[in-house]
Order: sequence, then C-alpha cells, then structure tokens
Amino acid sequence: MPEDLDPFDIALQQLRKAADVMKLDKQAVELLSSPKAILQVSIPVKMDNGETKVFTGFRVRYNNARGPAKGGIRFHPDETLSTVKALSAWMTWKTAITNLPLGGSKGGIICDPKKLSLGELERLSRGYIRAVADFIGPEIDIPAPDVYTTPQIMAWMMDEYETIVRHSAPGVITGKPVELWGSLGRGDATARGGMYVLREAARTINMDLSKAKVAIQGFGNAGQFAVKLVSEIFKSKVVAVSDTKGGIYAESGIDYEKLLAHKQKTGSVQNYPGSKNITNEELLELGVDVLIPAAIENQLRGDNANKIKAKLILELANGPTTPEADEIFFKKNILLLPDFLSNSGGVTVSYFEWVQNSEGYYWTEEEVHEKLDRKMTEATHSVLDAAKKYKVDPRTAAYTVSVKRVLDAMKLRGWL
Ligand code: GLU
Repeated sequence: MPEDLDPFDIALQQLRKAADVMKLDKQAVELLSSPKAILQVSIPVKMDNGETKVFTGFRVRYNNARGPAKGGIRFHPDETLSTVKALSAWMTWKTAITNLPLGGSKGGIICDPKKLSLGELERLSRGYIRAVADFIGPEIDIPAPDVYTTPQIMAWMMDEYETIVRHSAPGVITGKPVELWGSLGRGDATARGGMYVLREAARTINMDLSKAKVAIQGFGNAGQFAVKLVSEIFKSKVVAVSDTKGGIYAESGIDYEKLLAHKQKTGSVQNYPGSKNITNEELLELGVDVLIPAAIENQLRGDNANKIKAKLILELANGPTTPEADEIFFKKNILLLPDFLSNSGGVTVSYFEWVQNSEGYYWTEEEVHEKLDRKMTEATHSVLDAAKKYKVDPRTAAYTVSVKRVLDAMKLRGWL
C-alpha cells in the first residue's frame, strides 16, 4: 500500500504515537486532534491585464490555550486546507517547545507568487488581510512569513491591518522589515536557531562539526542561511545545496557568497562553477554527516529512507519526514532533530519582535542572539532528555514535552 502523505493525517499519527507513550486519555487526544477554528476566504484581485482573479486563502487557528495563536502565511500553488491544518498543529507544538506564551495557527493562499507582478502580489497580500482582519490581531492571532512570503509582504499586510483598525498595531504581524519595527536577527533566525540545536545534539553523539560534510535541500528563508551559518559558526563543509530547479554537489565545498551571487544572476543554484548538477533526490542520499532538509513536506519517505547515509538530520523545513521514514531512521540510529524543535528559532525571534513591538523598545542583535541561544539550548535538552526517559525517537520525545505544556494549560483553563 502506498504511504499516506496527507499532511494532517501525518500530524495526527505523530500526535497519537506520543499520546500512547504518555498514556493520555481519549478526551485529551480528541481535543488536541482538531483545530479550534478554520476560516476559508475568497480574495478578488485586479490583475495587471484588467481582469479580476479570485484566489482562495485559509487561516487555521489550532490552539490558543497558551496565548494568542501564532504562525506564518504560505503562498504556494499546491496549498491545501490539510497542509495548513497540519502546519497550524505543528505551530502549536513549536511555540510550546521553546515555552513561548503563544498558541499555534497558520495561513495560506493558493497561488504561484513567481507568476505575479509586484503590484499583483501587493493587492493579493492586502486582499488577504481584508478577508481575515476579524480573525487576527496582536492579542488574537499573529501571522508571519513562511514559504514564498517576505518582510515586504509583512509590511503591506501590517499597513492594511492598521488602515482597517485605524490605529498603529505593529504587533499584528512579525517578520517585518527592521525599518518598520521588525526585530534585528529575525532574517536568519530559523537557520540560526537550528544551528544551536545542531551544536547541542552533535555534542551528545561526539560529532565534530568542524570536520562534518553537510548537504542542504532548499535555498529559501531557512536553507540559504543554513548554508551561510553552518560554515561560519562551525566551519563545516557544505558539499551540496539545491533549490526547486535542482541541486549541486562540490566535494571541495560550496562558498555561500559566491553561490548567492550565482543564484541572483542565473535564477538557480545549478551550474555553480566547480560543481556537478544533481537532482533533489540525489542530494538527500549523499554520503554526508549532516543532512538539512530545508524545503517542503514529505521529502524523506518510506521509499527513500533506507538510502539516507547521513548520521544526523536537522529538519529546518516543516514536515519533511513521513512516519514510515521516522521509524527507519530510529532503527538505523540516525539522529533526527524534528522540525518543530529545529526550526523554532523563527517563531522564537518572532515572539521577541512582538514583545519589542508591544514595549516600543528595541534590542540589539547580540541580545536577540543570546536570548535565542538560551531558548534553543534549553528546548534541545528538554527533547533529548525526554527521548532518553521514554526511550523514543526525538520527534515523539518533543511531542511529549509540548503536548504536556499545552494540556496543562487546557486543564487549568477548565477545557478538560
Ligand atoms: N513560518 C515560520 C514557522 O513555520 C515562522 C512562524 C512565525 O514566526 O510566527 O515556524
């Protein structure tokens, strides 16, 4: 039977596995198994050719027991409600793992941003906010960037929201440009947070990161900065990188600045001088020490997990590994650091941004890095300790930590 790749089914399978380990009762699992609220909207957008095109968008609030819901907005041609639901559940576990006073949510629009002009993109972004304005707010639900959304898009969205509510409300959205009250250190926060997780985990398996070979799938918000930071912080050698068009492999290592310039010039990482073109699948199966999936869901599955040679997997993407692949990695003793731990640096600095916005007082980049390091280090050890305690894989261990925090809040509120 082919593996079930529906993202929300996968999110529920992961939750149930942890619920078994924790011996949770049925009502608790039931309450954690569906979103609190789902909003679907139609967004009419005047296109440059004069026609009106209607786009479909979603906002899913999964859980707000621990505070206002929090999560990004994706612009993607393959967006589905199931994906947004799964991502909103993962946000709930993600904000809990670094112990932020926030819940989880997610948004998405079915669109191909690569085919939109800048004007169309702005009108779509503003239209989405007009459609969801009653559903979000600095104390209700706070969006942020995700796949194919940028600080500029966050700026338009904040402006649209403030126009509707008729007062300043920078905390309605995070990941804004620094000039418009974004936080210093938000740009590379997802990858940087992942580096702190990697540092702590590598120590526990005695891996010397300065001698490690690394392959990174994806060159977006997370992947790009992972290429930069893993070489900068640990002096590891990045031997392979990919984007949607394909990948490259260079035994002698890939230079971040040169690759960035090449990508900006040619539109792709492929044909980088001194490298060999490879496919995205080949990248995953390389003989490296560390594999960093930093693109999209369902990349490591039952059908390719046995071919993975890395000793450690740092998931910077959301949902890159299926439950079948998880089992295989656990059996093969490959240390997989799960998405909602590894990529929680983004939302952690988003939280710092929201705090700074509400105080109107801004921190230095060093302060942000230091606070992020503390949060990520603590979260990593809480997961590794739980993995030892329950003798389970780190993903299930991370669930036990987050689910307990969310359940405690729900019980104290009297929801259970
Ligand atoms: N979209 C990012 C994530 O999946 C960041 C969310 C946020 O900053 O709220 O974690």
